Amino acid sequence: MGVLKRYGEHLPISERTPLVNLEEGSTPLVRLDRIGDELGIELTAKLEGCNPSGSFKDRGMVLAVAKALEDGARAVVCASTGNTSASAAAYAAHVGIPCYVLLPSGKVALGKLAQALIYGAKVIAVEGNFDRALEMAREAAAARGFAMVNSVNPYRIISQKTGAWEICESLGRAPDLHVIPVGNAGNISAYWAGYKDFKSWGKISSLPRMIGIQAEGAAPLATGKPCPNPETIATAIRIGNPVSARTALIAAAESGGQFETVTDEEILSAQSMLASRAGVFAEPASCATLAGLVKLSHAGKLPKGAKTTIILTGNGLKDPDTVMSRVGRPIKIGDSMEELLEALS
Ligand SMILES: *Cc1c(COP(=O)(O)O)cnc(C)c1O
Repeated sequence: MGVLKRYGEHLPISERTPLVNLEEGSTPLVRLDRIGDELGIELTAKLEGCNPSGSFKDRGMVLAVAKALEDGARAVVCASTGNTSASAAAYAAHVGIPCYVLLPSGKVALGKLAQALIYGAKVIAVEGNFDRALEMAREAAAARGFAMVNSVNPYRIISQKTGAWEICESLGRAPDLHVIPVGNAGNISAYWAGYKDFKSWGKISSLPRMIGIQAEGAAPLATGKPCPNPETIATAIRIGNPVSARTALIAAAESGGQFETVTDEEILSAQSMLASRAGVFAEPASCATLAGLVKLSHAGKLPKGAKTTIILTGNGLKDPDTVMSRVGRPIKIGDSMEELLEALS
């Protein structure tokens, strides 16, 4: 059941809202015991890469696109280097309206670009940074009567709260620590709002500490300083001027949480650890969460036995280049059994 059906009573939808549904949400919450034991915590991971377009963006996009249809928008438009465009393109294709993607200059993960194109979006490469592309998308939306589906679209954040609701329903409570990668900071803001909803509805009694992880080269919230030239291998969080900075800072402060930075090297080593010790392959931005936990653990700042949930925001298959440049190659043999048995030893 998609999120509009599962949580419709708590979302701003009416009889006139089409119940768009790609079976997004209801993603697995998996116990990672081998890694958890090592860190001395009870660790679970929310596998948002299991959403239809392979990232959590689908949770918000489904409502944004449903509302665009309800409001009679003729198309959707967004500026994105990645998962937002993949998600927007998927939902636009599903409901049968055009999708325009403005691609700012810079690195794009191959899988995400492939997605936007195969879903049939018109992808326009802009010679400018993300902020400029966003501005242009906004003006185009106003000029042409398109719906703008970047996270400045309030429906995106509202519907992303469903992630927090699902975690509470799976655990029967809120975790002690909620660890999440932070780019434009919409997701951390949405999760905090979602947890607070569940508390005010009497469904949980405690709230988690919100721990936002940023890449060292793109850490405006962790450092408290603007970051004009963000740089990190984790392209989904390569953001220097987060749209939802204010609500994210409130989430960390109100919850007794914090922001933490991790290096690209720490992110990549966490990605390998997740894959080889938990059987979970997540994209680099997502793995910043585990990298942050490892860092806190080494600093002795991880409370023993804490129920900890990391949000693995996107699927590892989206960005194979990052992996292939550092893993080994297959062992080549001929077609004899001797060679095979030798290779197996
Ligand atoms: C969008 C995205 C993020 C960052 O989320 P924000 O809401 O912008 O903070 C993190 N990881 C992945 C995989 C994403 O696609």
